[in-house]
Amino acid sequence: MKKHNFSAGPCVLPQEVMKKASEAILNFNGLDLSLIEISHRSKDAIEVMETARSLAIELLGLEGKGYKALFLQGGASLQFLMVAYNLLEKKAAYLNTGTWSSKAIKEAKIMGEVVEVASSKDANFNYIPKSYSIPEDADYFHITSNNTIFGTQIKEFPDTGIPMACDMSSDIFSRQLDFSKFDLIYAGAQKNMGPSGTTLVVIREDILGKVSRTIPSMLDYKAHLDKDSMFNTPPVFAVYVSMLTLQWLKDLGGIPAIEKLNREKAALVYGEIDRNPLFKGFAAVEDRSPMNATFNLVNEAHKDTFDTLWKEAGINNLNGHRSVGGYRASMYNALSVESAKVLVEVMQQLEKKVG
Ligand SMILES: *Cc1c(COP(=O)(O)O)cnc(C)c1O
Repeated sequence: MKKHNFSAGPCVLPQEVMKKASEAILNFNGLDLSLIEISHRSKDAIEVMETARSLAIELLGLEGKGYKALFLQGGASLQFLMVAYNLLEKKAAYLNTGTWSSKAIKEAKIMGEVVEVASSKDANFNYIPKSYSIPEDADYFHITSNNTIFGTQIKEFPDTGIPMACDMSSDIFSRQLDFSKFDLIYAGAQKNMGPSGTTLVVIREDILGKVSRTIPSMLDYKAHLDKDSMFNTPPVFAVYVSMLTLQWLKDLGGIPAIEKLNREKAALVYGEIDRNPLFKGFAAVEDRSPMNATFNLVNEAHKDTFDTLWKEAGINNLNGHRSVGGYRASMYNALSVESAKVLVEVMQQLEKKVG
């Protein structure tokens, strides 16, 4: 039986997507060729790229608003640098809410001055700073919508008056937002959309062309936009799996439908964390992420018993990141409500056993 996969990334994807993807490896579109052995310039491959790009824009509600989607390589980590390379002329503003924001800040500093408008490092990033001001003369403001490691999520985004770039790697397509508030959105596919190997970048074209430096072609958004995301050989298979997942999401009713399910899963798991005296949540309650629930045992002596219980229940990867310890239940779009219920049952079993 398939495991209940709570992995933080790469993570669970819909089973029907896996099935279609495996068929495409053997014989794609009845071509008697594999998807991974055809030219990226062939009609069938171009169609994959174009469908994936337009589905992303459609699901985010950004059609006709001047945005384009790219599927690039180098992970979200390369975007830390690319954002700054393409947008930072003098100064950029960053909100530091965790490991990934800190890494984004480090890369941006290579390109210019970085103002850290606020940080929650003082409390091991267990909350989202809420009162801060963004310098009006900054070239852009960078924010991380969901902090995968610490299990916090930004609920309200500021009105900036300057371009806003957002790392949405771990919660893109999971909740309704006014995505047109952002001028650039990026997300590594492997958290909520597909396999590793491609990164979605959604960009409003008119924010480009404002820096004076020469941008190497592979790091230049414009070079990728001009070639319809095929400046060089794109990772067609990773994009295809992402396309299938986006298609699955659309058929399900899009972001409003998945948000409802994500809320249901989060309510189950956080409900149990709060009810069960053996556990305590890590993140500040108002900032809790429905995607990544971080929690600890009140008494570490129960660790071996709990670990045995969840492994026996067919749960995969509930271990917390080393910087938080304890446990992390990642509940991305494709994780079923059923899996969330299994986790709750296991937590209740521990209480019966040792409570
Ligand atoms: C995982 C993650 C990254 C890093 O993604 P890579 O594709 O491995 O470079 C960046 N930001 C966030 C929020 C993440 O969750």
